[in-house]
Amino acid sequence: MPAQEAEYSILLVLEDPTQASIYAQALQRQGYRVWTAYDGEEGLAKLRTLKPFLAVLDALLPKRDGFVICEHVKADPALAGIPIILLSPFDVEAVKPLRENGLGLADAFLSADLVLQKPVPVERLLEFVERIREGRPAVPPLTAEEPKQTVLLIDDDRLNIKLLEVTLTDAGFRVMTALTGKEGLRLFEQEQPDLVMLDILMSDLHGLSVLTSLKRRAPALPVIIMTAHGSEEMAVEAMKLGASDYLVKPLHYQRVAAVVREHIEKSRLRATEERLTHQLRESSLQLMRRVAELELARRKLEQAHAELEEAGRLKTEFISMVSHELRTPLTNIQGYVELLLDEADGPINDTQREYLEIVLDNCKRLIAIANDLLDISRIEAGNLRLNKTRLRLQELVDEAVRSLHPQFQAKNLQLTLDLAPQPLWIWADRERMIQVLNNLLSNACKYTPAGGSVTVRAFPDNGRALVEVSDTGIGIPEQDLERIFEKFYRAENSRQEATYGTGLGLPIAKSLVELHDGSISVTSKLGKGSTFTVQLPLLEG
Ligand code: ADP
Repeated sequence: MPAQEAEYSILLVLEDPTQASIYAQALQRQGYRVWTAYDGEEGLAKLRTLKPFLAVLDALLPKRDGFVICEHVKADPALAGIPIILLSPFDVEAVKPLRENGLGLADAFLSADLVLQKPVPVERLLEFVERIREGRPAVPPLTAEEPKQTVLLIDDDRLNIKLLEVTLTDAGFRVMTALTGKEGLRLFEQEQPDLVMLDILMSDLHGLSVLTSLKRRAPALPVIIMTAHGSEEMAVEAMKLGASDYLVKPLHYQRVAAVVREHIEKSRLRATEERLTHQLRESSLQLMRRVAELELARRKLEQAHAELEEAGRLKTEFISMVSHELRTPLTNIQGYVELLLDEADGPINDTQREYLEIVLDNCKRLIAIANDLLDISRIEAGNLRLNKTRLRLQELVDEAVRSLHPQFQAKNLQLTLDLAPQPLWIWADRERMIQVLNNLLSNACKYTPAGGSVTVRAFPDNGRALVEVSDTGIGIPEQDLERIFEKFYRAENSRQEATYGTGLGLPIAKSLVELHDGSISVTSKLGKGSTFTVQLPLLEG
């Protein structure tokens, strides 16, 4: 029968929201009203204000653990009536010996009305919730009485059996009796008792052989031997075979229950200890396995890294070698073509001149590519040598502008120079710094349509020397701005313009500027123009 909403409200305090929502939906389907909280503090606050009919808590929670809340609730008269189900990540049985060792944590843990070990399927949770709602005891409630412990008595002495049975039953044990060894072994198989009391001298089987059979089947089973006065050496033999203790007949019946209880408790503790040791060994084995796997993965990564580095080095070496080998014949070709164009060996006609100019143009382009490749491979290999001297920045700008002037004129671009009057001294490699400026200027020329304008400014700024190259060209799309300093990267619009380029100029310029302790940046508006800014350390005048 579905629970009535208002009466039966449940607070779920669980760290995992998915798990909480699965439980909540199932409980709501049963007619419960459900509240949720995801950490201990929120959980305790809601417990206080909402006073639910029942609370389900994770034993371990952020901010405040569930078992701590549980102890808190049970100590507070206003809340103590709220039943609490704790969901524990570890074996509940393992907690009990901790309590016996006087650990407060275990007390808090066991103050819950019910502890269930995770994972707890929805149906199981529903079953316990229903039980609590109907007032039936939740099974197995940890705080309720323990199930009775079973003792098997094997003895052909009827009187002794009877007296033991009465004594132990009175003391709260469940007692099974067998008058023969064979019957004893059969009952043992059937009932799996917690302890066996065994007479050593019986009519059918010898007690020692019964003991051997029992120990073979259950090595951890506590067995107490009963021997007649005068046959103690038999008892010693039994102890060697694994008996836990021996009592000499006639027995002191008042003491028997205490001895039995002590041995059952000892064997339980031993079992728990073994289980915990086993769990510990398993987890450390797993950990060791994981460490070994990680170590293997690390070595593989290291090897891959070394291989990659070697491949990178070989690639750089190869590029460097090829570009070097290309440059020599290309420079040769350029020289001879220039000789022909100069008519050093006789006149050439207009068509021949036109063809030779095309050859010269392409030859220069190839030399430029070879130079760029050589530069980039030297930079990457850390082999670029700089020859730095004290230089006036304005002079370098002048020289770069002068060398590119013909190209600006050919495209009818207006070039404006705005250079600070006071000298801007920098510590730089002359050729390399001119190469940087050339690159920025030739890009400005290349990516600005005819009739546009380019402005070059040089000025001091906060102890730095700045050079700005601005154009009114095609601009750079926003999404490409980040990447134009990467090797071989060309912005979408520049590729469409069909302008020639390798995408190596800017990465080289950037590296060169950085080798001078400077930086390079860009701002741009698509269709409106771009500004590249180089910053360099300014020397004292
Ligand atoms: P390249 O010009 O040979 O392609 P760069 O490395 O010098 O190589 O430039 C990379 C890219 O940056 C160019 O392809 C172009 O897309 C963009 N770019 C550089 N300068 C400008 C500029 N002044 N205006 C517009 N785009 C530019």
